[in-house]
Amino acid sequence: MPEVLSQFRKRRYHRQKAHLILSAIRHRALDPGIELISLESYRDLPNSISSVINPTSYNQRKLVQSIGLKVFPSRGFVASEEEFAEYAQSKAGKRLVLEDFYRKQRARTGLLMNDGQPVGGQWNFDHDNRLPPPKEQTLGVSEPWYPEEDEIDAQVRRDLDKLESEGVKFSGNDGQRLFPASRDEALAALDHFVEQRLDLFGPYEDAVLKTDWAMSHSLLSAPMNMGLLDPMEVAQAAENAYIQGKARLASVEGFIRQVIGWRDYVWHLYWHFGEDYVNKNELGANQPIPANWLDLNDQDIESNCLSSTIADISQRGWVHHIPRLMILGNIAMQRGFDPKAVNDWLVDNFVDGTPWVMPANSIGMSLYADGGMMSTKPYAAGGAYINKMTNYCGSCRFDPKKRVGDDACPVNAGYWNFIHTHQERFILNPRISRAVYSMRKLTDLEELVSQETARKFL
Ligand SMILES: Cc1cc2nc3c(=O)[nH]c(=O)nc-3n(C[C@H](O)[C@H](O)[C@H](O)COP(=O)(O)OP(=O)(O)OC[C@H]3O[C@@H](n4cnc5c(N)ncnc54)[C@H](O)[C@@H]3O)c2cc1C
Ligand code: SF4
Repeated sequence: MPEVLSQFRKRRYHRQKAHLILSAIRHRALDPGIELISLESYRDLPNSISSVINPTSYNQRKLVQSIGLKVFPSRGFVASEEEFAEYAQSKAGKRLVLEDFYRKQRARTGLLMNDGQPVGGQWNFDHDNRLPPPKEQTLGVSEPWYPEEDEIDAQVRRDLDKLESEGVKFSGNDGQRLFPASRDEALAALDHFVEQRLDLFGPYEDAVLKTDWAMSHSLLSAPMNMGLLDPMEVAQAAENAYIQGKARLASVEGFIRQVIGWRDYVWHLYWHFGEDYVNKNELGANQPIPANWLDLNDQDIESNCLSSTIADISQRGWVHHIPRLMILGNIAMQRGFDPKAVNDWLVDNFVDGTPWVMPANSIGMSLYADGGMMSTKPYAAGGAYINKMTNYCGSCRFDPKKRVGDDACPVNAGYWNFIHTHQERFILNPRISRAVYSMRKLTDLEELVSQETARKFL
């Protein structure tokens, strides 16, 4: 089991992500027959190693090929690379669509299927799963499962402190480890989630509460991405919870869709779209990421939605899907941040970030930098959406309904400014052209554009 500390000198990782990776490697090395070797580079792998499980990034695949190692198929996904290639081939010339792939995955695995038909008579319960947050401060579900740190974690902390004292820079706060680092811990976290938290996953899946960081999300992406849980066992555990009456169908279907649908889909798209996909920049976005994002410093950010999200990432290296997509992604797209820089920042700052998971989520879904290969239109939203689906706006100094003036919401005005900037392209896309026509009718457009062009801070 190689441990390569020099990785942390190359990029600025979140401190808790570095901790989690080292802790997981060292916990795995406790298993019989596994020896921990400390290397300066993966190129220094000892000659006694002759075969590997195929790595999950272009760079590492090239490396193992160059060393001439025997390669076994990658693990940790539901459909094999051959199955996806066959599926993509069957769609040749047509746009790939998640829903279509997901139904194939359901049929292939038999999850939530009955005699070839979806359980409950429908494939998709999205209409039950779009509730805004409740008025209360929390969803009221039980706390997530938390690990207890051990001597391995204590040693990891000492080693990371030493690296910092030698000048290695991490982002974010150090803190108690929140995510599983061993197979036993991962199984405990899965069991706790399906037994106690899954039932409310669906209805509030798209909602955000400032005072409830985890809501009903599973927090299982990191253990799945690190290979501590297999996505099929996760989906089967959720299905069993439905069969045993512990969780409603809309939640279980919504969750299984994420795991065997979205997660597998973005993995296969990483290879399908090719190595250069991560460099796509169809909207010509070239603004650098601001220093307070890079430093995870919420202090001088006035927008409550953004400052809370940055503070949450600093505190835990994790926020759920909607802050990632509709707050970070949306704002980065509106403000024209360089897509590759955003992609790398997300990989480095999320505990579950990996090279394969991010491009479809960042370049494609969040930033529309691929010009529509992944989504038919940009996921752009203004203040009204954030106001409906989160409880940030009530305590923000900006007004989500305002477009101009000192208290104009930067996400609201930013949305119209974004449509204005790309109007020539968007007017040709029937899925977003209406926004261009509405923008052109705004009476305060000129003022709005000059206000947003001059805006330095959010
Ligand atoms: C900008 C952006 C960045 C993201 N970064 C990551 C990342 O670094 N690592 C990561 O695993 N996911 C990422 N996602 C997808 C998703 O946001 C996270 O998987 C999820 O928030 C992790 O929390 P959870 O385990 O509680 O997920 P839950 O809400 O409980 O969902 C269950 C599982 O579904 C899977 N899943 C759901 N949506 C996606 C998706 N779009 N892509 C991949 N898997 C998905 C995850 O494995 C997740 O654990 C990102 C999405 C966006 C828009
Ligand atoms: S008012 Fe605007 S800036 Fe403030 S929290 Fe709401 S969306 Fe964010």
